[in-house]
Amino acid sequence: MKVNPEYRSKEALLALYNTPLLELVYQAATIHREYHNPREVQMSSLLSIKTGGCPEDCGYCPQAARYQTDVDVHKLMSVESVIEQAKNAKSNGSSRLCMGAAWREVRDNRDFDKVVEMVQAVNDLDMEVCCTLGMMSEDQALRLKKAGLFAYNHNLDSSKEFYKDVISTREYEDRLKTIDNARKAGISVCSGGIIGMGEAVEDRIGLLLSYMEMETPPESIPINALVAVEGTPLEEQKPIEQWEMIRMVATTRIAFPESVVRLSAGRTKMSMEAQAMCFMAGAGSIFAGDKLLTTPNPEFNEDQEMFHILGLEPKEAFADGEKPVTEPDPILEAKKEKEAMARKDFEPRKVSVV
Ligand code: SF4
Repeated sequence: MKVNPEYRSKEALLALYNTPLLELVYQAATIHREYHNPREVQMSSLLSIKTGGCPEDCGYCPQAARYQTDVDVHKLMSVESVIEQAKNAKSNGSSRLCMGAAWREVRDNRDFDKVVEMVQAVNDLDMEVCCTLGMMSEDQALRLKKAGLFAYNHNLDSSKEFYKDVISTREYEDRLKTIDNARKAGISVCSGGIIGMGEAVEDRIGLLLSYMEMETPPESIPINALVAVEGTPLEEQKPIEQWEMIRMVATTRIAFPESVVRLSAGRTKMSMEAQAMCFMAGAGSIFAGDKLLTTPNPEFNEDQEMFHILGLEPKEAFADGEKPVTEPDPILEAKKEKEAMARKDFEPRKVSVV
């Protein structure tokens, strides 16, 4: 993954961001055409596999246990339900399934074993599997990689300076460490930010600068607009102007020409025209399905209609990287063996009648 060397400094990125809008979109569209097929947009689905009850305090998140929100808390889904949801997403055109769990960090327990099974099963469906599970160690990343994980999502959200105004339960460095662990395990990195949280333009630039400073920038950079949820500390934030989203997408496109820029949360507040400008400016993916973890998102059929009108095509899975090969997981194999043994012990004995 390469970066655009012209925009390695804060000043250069800021000047780019402040370019007259139509000129900025034109430049972004030109770069987009050079590196990507502009007619292809990946449809991804985001599934909340464990919802709510999170011990963290991210100011935008309705899943934090400390905020009074309407989130429907549920424990980890079953592997079977995830497979069913994945098949449904695939039949509606999604080529990537991102599974999100409201955890502070991954723990080496039975729930994680189940997530490993989910990753194996969804990879077997020939979909790109992405997970967003909070912080994780290098060993955990490696286990997910061997299960067939294609990408790991871990957003930096904003600049290092603004981050602590929104989250106090972990540090920016903790985020960077997890991204590094995913990278070391050979997993494609998905990391981006949220705009509209009350940050300054400099913070949006600071986010991009953090990716500029990485040895390898993320393969995928989601750009989200805050969806202000009642009960969260950011509930009073006014929605951002659609132009700001277009500007942020275009700036990201130009700075990171090879990465996939994902037009993520906040699309329900955007007109089709504004979304079209984002595709023009280099957005190469959307999240499809009526829910984005817990917040509303356009329905599958609305997006299908938009694709039809704009002449867009859903991007195939593994267009940007080979399908991971699933390797047997020693912990799951041992579990299966133990279960098989237990079943054998319970087999009714043959009684011979004399
Ligand atoms: S964003 Fe993630 S880590 Fe933060 S509170 Fe929500 S679920 Fe927890």
